[in-house]
Amino acid sequence: MTVRTIVTVPHPVLRRQAKKVTDFNAELQTLIDDMIETMRAAPGVGLAAPQVNVPLRLFVAEFGDEDDPEAPTQVYVVINPRIVAASRETEIGVEGCLSIPELVGEVVRPRAVTVKGLDRHGQPLTLKAKGWLARIFQHEIDHLQGVLFTDHALRVWDAEAETEPQATAD
Ligand code: ZN
Repeated sequence: MTVRTIVTVPHPVLRRQAKKVTDFNAELQTLIDDMIETMRAAPGVGLAAPQVNVPLRLFVAEFGDEDDPEAPTQVYVVINPRIVAASRETEIGVEGCLSIPELVGEVVRPRAVTVKGLDRHGQPLTLKAKGWLARIFQHEIDHLQGVLFTDHALRVWDAEAETEPQATAD
């Protein structure tokens, strides 16, 4: 496994529509393993393929259980993901992005989503997520449309600023 370079704004790949994955070949498996390694090295909780300069529709994420800090983290690999259901209830959370290292910001998102896609071997996958995991999935799927969290943040601020506004609890 190789840690790949994470591209940052204003790299054009971050603004492109990523393409559907059609080949579940060895190259894809290597990409997935590298993306997991790169996410962990960053460290981050999610990474979309365009962030390693590969314009394909897939993301990886790693997250535990927000209600149980002792629970082990789980790795998610989702190919050609789409949101098939979203809660009407929304919440505000403070997000950052490995491709926008200087900024964090408040983003309103549905509290829960159902995501359908394929696993790394091309088998259908349905994931129901709420809270932070739902937020991670939505943030990563945005990347596949060339959308960054700063596009729909209520406000953004310098991640290093000492005067950062009080973050709203998620
Ligand atoms: Zn991001």
